[in-house]
Amino acid sequence: MDKLNPVLPSNALQIKAELISAESALEAAGIETPRFEVQLLLALALGVSRTQVIAQTYSPVTNRQWQSFSEYIRLRVARTPLAYIRGTQEFYGLDFRVDRNCLIPRPETEMLVDYALSCLSKYSDIIDFTEFPVVDVGTGSGCILIAILKNINSAKGFAVDLSAEALHISCINASAHHLTDRIHFLQSSLLDAVRSQSCSIIVSNPPYIPNTEIGSLQPEVRDFEPRLALEGTDKDGLGSYRRLAEEGLRVLISGGKLVVEVGMGQARTVEEIFIRSGYIDIEIRNDLANIERVVAGSRP
Ligand code: GLN
Repeated sequence: MDKLNPVLPSNALQIKAELISAESALEAAGIETPRFEVQLLLALALGVSRTQVIAQTYSPVTNRQWQSFSEYIRLRVARTPLAYIRGTQEFYGLDFRVDRNCLIPRPETEMLVDYALSCLSKYSDIIDFTEFPVVDVGTGSGCILIAILKNINSAKGFAVDLSAEALHISCINASAHHLTDRIHFLQSSLLDAVRSQSCSIIVSNPPYIPNTEIGSLQPEVRDFEPRLALEGTDKDGLGSYRRLAEEGLRVLISGGKLVVEVGMGQARTVEEIFIRSGYIDIEIRNDLANIERVVAGSRP
């Protein structure tokens, strides 16, 4: 049987049988670790840890909890990402609210935060961050800017996104992390809304997947994460970097940094774009999988 019975089974044996059938439903849907995910989703429905699920040290399952569990399995069979089912994702040691209006924060993006923090700590004696804020372009959940500001107490920032719905989520996250008074939220296409500002650092994880590659993404990404957050402009997907490099020169103070995340194999072309626009001291950083992931340059 591949469908979970949404009616609570009457005894532990039947529950066990249903869990096995949930596992095969996930497996049939192409999920690679079905048992792990069944445990995770049951834990979520019961409000306990996965360890408690494994050790079976939870109170008798209620009707309501069973219904939630069945619904989570149904969503996961349709390849809804776990983070959207849970409604949260951990990033840089912090919890972020996420929904289908924002990209799910990825571990490799933590590299960008590390790099930005190292730049900011180098400058902290000479630059007043209150006067020269950090700009996060395409803020999505707000994860990058929030992680930065949580680690640099004096800094302020602009969270920019074209999507009003994404900005709404980033506002919720900023408020959960007590940063509302340090962030300005702006609906804008790239740097349009901050044109007249002077900023110390621009960070961005812009959409960079070329249109021709969208179809081959895994279903969780392709069918659920916002297209606006994934698909890059221009044939090679690098249109945002071209615009950011140009517009960044007008916004950054001298010595200010443009720091971006790039997709696999894009770092050298983005480096080229930065050099041609006039940036200096270009640096490339690899992620934990040794993929060139962060490109940064300074405004002369
Ligand atoms: N800044 C967000 C993140 O890195 C969203 C990026 C995007 O939407 N492309 O997760």
